[in-house]
Amino acid sequence: MAGTIVMKFGGTSVADSERLKRAARRIVARREEGNRVVAVLSARGKTTDELITMAEEISPAPDPREMDMLLSTGERQSCALCAMAINDLGYRAISLTGSQAGIVTDTSHTKARIVEVRADRITHALDDGAIVLVAGFQGVSTTRDVTTLGRGGSDTTAVALAAALAAEVCEIYTDVAGVFSADPRIVPGARKLPVVSFEEMLEMAASGARVLQLRSVEYARNHDVRIHCRSSFDDRAGTLVLSEEETMERPLITAVTHSTDEARVTLIGVPDHPGVAGRIFTALAGTNVNVDMIVQNEPVSPNAQAEISFTVPRDDLRMARAALEPMVGEVVADVRTDAEMGKVSVVGAGMKTHPGVAATVFETLGNERINIEMISTSPIKISCVIRADQVPQAVRSLHAAFDLGSDGVAAEHPFRAGAAT
Ligand code: ADP
Ligand code: ASP
Ligand code: MG
Repeated sequence: MAGTIVMKFGGTSVADSERLKRAARRIVARREEGNRVVAVLSARGKTTDELITMAEEISPAPDPREMDMLLSTGERQSCALCAMAINDLGYRAISLTGSQAGIVTDTSHTKARIVEVRADRITHALDDGAIVLVAGFQGVSTTRDVTTLGRGGSDTTAVALAAALAAEVCEIYTDVAGVFSADPRIVPGARKLPVVSFEEMLEMAASGARVLQLRSVEYARNHDVRIHCRSSFDDRAGTLVLSEEETMERPLITAVTHSTDEARVTLIGVPDHPGVAGRIFTALAGTNVNVDMIVQNEPVSPNAQAEISFTVPRDDLRMARAALEPMVGEVVADVRTDAEMGKVSVVGAGMKTHPGVAATVFETLGNERINIEMISTSPIKISCVIRADQVPQAVRSLHAAFDLGSDGVAAEHPFRAGAAT
């Protein structure tokens, strides 16, 4: 039997009619090679952002269930239009919502997790010779409501379908030529990585390299899915995400990643006795806020109180405040927040066996007069929280300090420094 391929096209790759038709032609080309083809599409261009703005204009705190009803429409548009384009090319295509495609999730609206994929409807359509288009980023919950999978979630839809269909490969078509040693929009001389290990890609995605959603990488690793991240604008090979055993090279540093969407929360006057931190973070977990870095400043004298700072994605700040404010006066003296934080990280499997990476990171940022506000490490990553406006400069200087660029690759992608869209 012919092999199955899952192709995923991101928002930029279907942004206008020309691009959408180009995606349709690429999908058909794969079908003409004899494959069974499932394509997952994102919402066009900035559609998801526009839908979020629309909701915020109506309500200061939109109901998450209704938010999901709204957001899921973006990817449905792309799929229906692409099915029309493919039908005009002489092939039969059907578009399916996440729910129709059998993507079953838990009930946490706006950041649901896939719990099961019932792919029988897709399998039947493929058996009938159709090309199947699936609306990314969405599913149906165990209580039968429409859910969405968090920003960038179409990557996870694609990987989950590839796993369920035992696809040969999950191709992620995007607006850059693959996974780079840094965001090519910030570092024009960044190098395209031919392969990257799951271990490194997980750290990269977790620390802001949004080219693949973190969940999609976790899912691929757990279900042995082969990811090929590549350009939707040309045919060259992109980046393969492979198991640690398959990636021979162990460079000291693989990439510099960043995020400019962090917020810091500082709790003042935290009593220094057991159980307090537990209460605070249980309250946050209850609202599904993702806490990243946590730092506790111990009291200087025996009866003094501690201070706890942590970072959350800026989008979660409102929820974090709402969870913590009831504790003011009772558990903590005050809650302060700063919404303009960012983070820069260096990732590399080689740092496990090489001391001195942290020293180079701190020295480089120090030379740029960038103040490090918080630090966290894993065996293969060092992250520093800094001010959001200093992030681009920090990324460029660390990329240069670890000599990650290579001459001549700038021509591989169409970006110049500061040309972010
Ligand atoms: P899509 O709409 O195709 O899902 P995304 O915007 O989600 O695309 O992800 C692609 C973007 O990720 C690129 O345009 C690039 O600016 C950004 N990016 C950040 N870090 C990296 C990196 N290390 N390698 C490649 N792209 C990166
Ligand atoms: N459209 C959604 C977003 O912008 C999902 C995706 O593109 O993967 O986050
Ligand atoms: Mg994306």
